[in-house]
Amino acid sequence: MLDACHGTLIMHELYPAECTDETCDELSEVRHALIIGCDELDDCGCRGERPQELPRAS
Ligand SMILES: [Zn+2]
Ligand SMILES: [Zn+2]
Repeated sequence: MLDACHGTLIMHELYPAECTDETCDELSEVRHALIIGCDELDDCGCRGERPQELPRAS
């Protein structure tokens, strides 16, 4: 029986998916109502692979 997760599943381009819930151990899309792409994040490592990388020193 699937147990729904209340965290947000983050789908990465270059890395395995991750969940905002640290206790989440089943990163399947069907268990998550909230799924976002990592392009919605500002600090994902996937963006470092982009050719036009801009330094973000803050
Ligand atoms: Zn990513
Ligand atoms: Zn989860």
